[in-house]
Amino acid sequence: MIKTTRMRHIITILLFAISISLCAQKSSILFTISMDHPTTHTFHVMMNCSGLKGDSVDFKMPVWTPGYYQRLDFANNVENFKAADASGTIKGWRKTSGSTWRVNNEAASVILDYDVKTIRLFVATPYLDEERGYILPAGIFLYPAGEIQHPVIVVVKPYEKWKNIATGLDSLAGKKYTFIAPDYDILYDSPLLVGNLEEFPSFTIKGIPHRFIAYKPGEFDRAQFMNDLKRIVETATALIGDIPYKQYTFIGTGPGAGGIEHLNSTTVSFNINNQSAEQNWLRTYFFLAHEYFHNYNVKRIRPIELGPFDYDNGSRTKMLWVPEGLSVYYEYMIVKRAGLCRENELLNAFRSNILAYEEKPGRLYQSLTRASYETWSDGPFGRTGDDVNKTISYYDKGPAVGMLLDFKIRHETKNKKSLDDVMRTLYKEFYQQRKRGFTESEFRETCEKIAGASLADVFEYVSTTKEVDYKKYLAYAGLDIDTSSKEIPGGWLGIATRMRNDSVMVSAVDWNSPAWNAGLRQRNVILEINGAKPDTRSIENVFKNKNPGDKIELEVMRGPEKKNVSILLGAKIERSFLISRKPGADNLQKEILESWLQ
Ligand SMILES: [Zn+2]
Repeated sequence: MIKTTRMRHIITILLFAISISLCAQKSSILFTISMDHPTTHTFHVMMNCSGLKGDSVDFKMPVWTPGYYQRLDFANNVENFKAADASGTIKGWRKTSGSTWRVNNEAASVILDYDVKTIRLFVATPYLDEERGYILPAGIFLYPAGEIQHPVIVVVKPYEKWKNIATGLDSLAGKKYTFIAPDYDILYDSPLLVGNLEEFPSFTIKGIPHRFIAYKPGEFDRAQFMNDLKRIVETATALIGDIPYKQYTFIGTGPGAGGIEHLNSTTVSFNINNQSAEQNWLRTYFFLAHEYFHNYNVKRIRPIELGPFDYDNGSRTKMLWVPEGLSVYYEYMIVKRAGLCRENELLNAFRSNILAYEEKPGRLYQSLTRASYETWSDGPFGRTGDDVNKTISYYDKGPAVGMLLDFKIRHETKNKKSLDDVMRTLYKEFYQQRKRGFTESEFRETCEKIAGASLADVFEYVSTTKEVDYKKYLAYAGLDIDTSSKEIPGGWLGIATRMRNDSVMVSAVDWNSPAWNAGLRQRNVILEINGAKPDTRSIENVFKNKNPGDKIELEVMRGPEKKNVSILLGAKIERSFLISRKPGADNLQKEILESWLQ
């Protein structure tokens, strides 16, 4: 780690004292992780355990990491597994399942020794190369079955050329590169980034330090950036009215995509080179606000299924649209309230989610609750392949429903209450008082209690595929949305294409388009259009200069088969979903809009 504050120091000493007393009473678990040969992409792990009970111990590796709702089966990357006791005597072991090693425990001390091969540079998987090591704990550290509550000490031995470690874990006082987790839930929630890292000027809010430590962050004005980030964090903490951690670390993992939220940190793919356009900064701020707000919405305000976690199978919930969809809603609202985005940019952000949702035929098949529950099999953004049209993304419909819910609550309470009150109430009543997550009915009851009215109409958009009446709810804030259909000039085939190895490949087919109905599908290759070999640009021109009803002849490779198809072009109908202020708003509508925009 780069910097230690006095506060952290005191907490660390306390935690160490607690851990020593716990260890003295029962058992201890200590990991040593090294990375001497980063070009092999392999971490080496030693796990020293003593005092574990039983003739044998099952050591397990989680199949997923909370925050990324997909099975990753980390155990598949464990190699050269060995077990011995403290005297060096080899112990017997066998795999009893894909993620479980059963180790003999006669001497009551076990030393495990194994490698973890890393294969993917991603925020939800461990990764090591000659420039940095990303320790994603769920994919590195084994736990003894039934011992999730056990404290753990981790000693990191960075590659010889590296100096820094960024993590939300507390350090052990006086011990370099040594960290302590009070239990495995905290350990699995605290990734570590090792390398030659840069720390930006930190800021405090109510005395609590917030740091940003990054690998290859790119070229930009650090002070200005941290100033803006401070405004974002301040706005989010003011919304909830409490800061639940003692320190917070943004960990920038370099170029890539995606971020994952944790209790007192977030890992974000972050590399800002040549980012001059305002639009890109806005996207960055939305992204950071989203990951930061998750420290409330999902880490603390959470569906009941999301903790304690089921590390063996994954934790399924029908409410993922609340932590994810409403965090998209609040990423926009927080950046707007922080003064970092304009009214038209805010309205446009909602418009793009509505557009993405409305353009997907999956909206006729899959509700928000089903999209939440089925994400484990569908993938984080819905199904791919031929089933692509049967799913939606809760990242799109979630924030749209969040907006309806907020406007309805404001309307019903004459703008005395809002969705903010729902979030604050969930935080207080469930996280602070009951110390647990909420059920589906408790979430709805909380919303309805705040609204003082039934919200059955809004919750119908959560549990069914009913067509959304945006106009009704936007009108509560004096806003209008353009849902009228307009015909786009030119002929419409309904495909998107990209070049692959010198040929034009179909990358997407609009559902129910002329191309779809003629049997064209993703990954078909277009050999000829009207007798000529196309490229992606000439394809666009072919359709622009045609009219609905015109016929085109295609020669297509479909797998190993060459086919000739003739297709009548159609007319593309589009809805803009542009959101704007409605003239002639009454006082309540004006008041709602004003306070919503703040
Ligand atoms: Zn998220």
